[in-house]
Amino acid sequence: MDLGIPVVRGTPEASDRPDTPLLVDRFGRIAKDLRVSLTDRCNLRCTYCMPAEGLDWLPKSDQLTDDELVRLMRIAVTLLGVTDIRFTGGEPLLRRGLEHVIAATAALRPRPRMSMTTNGIGLDRRARALKEAGLNRINISLDTLSASRFSTLTRRNRLEDVFAGLAAAREAGLTPVKVNSVLLRGVNEDEAVPLLRFCVDNGYQLRFIEQMPLDPQHGWTRTNMITAAEILASLSTAFSLTPEPAPRGGAPAERWLVDGGPAVVGVIASVTRPFCAACDRTRLTSDGQVRNCLFSQSETDLRAALRGGASDDEIASLWRANSWAKAAGHGINDAGFHQPDRPMSAIGG
Ligand code: SF4
Repeated sequence: MDLGIPVVRGTPEASDRPDTPLLVDRFGRIAKDLRVSLTDRCNLRCTYCMPAEGLDWLPKSDQLTDDELVRLMRIAVTLLGVTDIRFTGGEPLLRRGLEHVIAATAALRPRPRMSMTTNGIGLDRRARALKEAGLNRINISLDTLSASRFSTLTRRNRLEDVFAGLAAAREAGLTPVKVNSVLLRGVNEDEAVPLLRFCVDNGYQLRFIEQMPLDPQHGWTRTNMITAAEILASLSTAFSLTPEPAPRGGAPAERWLVDGGPAVVGVIASVTRPFCAACDRTRLTSDGQVRNCLFSQSETDLRAALRGGASDDEIASLWRANSWAKAAGHGINDAGFHQPDRPMSAIGG
């Protein structure tokens, strides 16, 4: 089911904004799911995400401190109606004090549900402590089951670490443990079936993600992207897939029961089956910029407001104004689409 892009009917003014504390936008969508990038740094070099030499990391002084981060999340939860927080990166496990940030977030009331997206490197040693700190569930990136391909794709020889991280997350109860996979033409597109088999056999929930134009090299091409239709066709050669009866809501993934269930598989088809019409996400970067969309061309600087002595209410108003100005959708399929300057690794999933 293609949720699509909302239709633009005229351009509502700021004065048209309904009097609500929530993060509503001009299309009536309400952001309740906050994605927080804890760092732009990463210990892998995935070819579709960053160059081998890495990137010019954001200056440390620009990064939000733990206290600034927790204050912004407190404002989001207590003044703006945010109910879910997902920690991302770069690689969030590289954030010093991660467990402290999670514990402080768990202490917020109303308590937000918390999840994290990670590459799994080092997770085997941290999973239990993250769970005890209050993390609810986890997504782990895995694009191949082959050690040599893993090295080609990530430029690091760490596949066994990811397997160990997956198992540790399951043992620690960070469930459902979800696996995020990106398939690239001529690289790993033949692994759709083996990846699903691996996840079904190990009790992980697999979601395939269509590659999006967010790489710093601007190397993304539509032809190189493996589409949702191709993924489903490949899976259907080995599994029977039936649409999951449960309502989708604003979830990015379309889901199918595998061989009648209970195992499920998801596809996040941002490009070919956009779901912007039901988007409930707002994003905070590690240097304190709020973005109303992964592909937004502008940001609101909350760090300057924080360090400039703004009150919680003033910061909340800035955040509401940012959401109100949200575009209908990502625009990838529009003529004149312009990729955001900020790369995925500095925005977060
Ligand atoms: S592209 Fe933007 S509007 Fe669309 S679902 Fe993603 S974050 Fe939401």
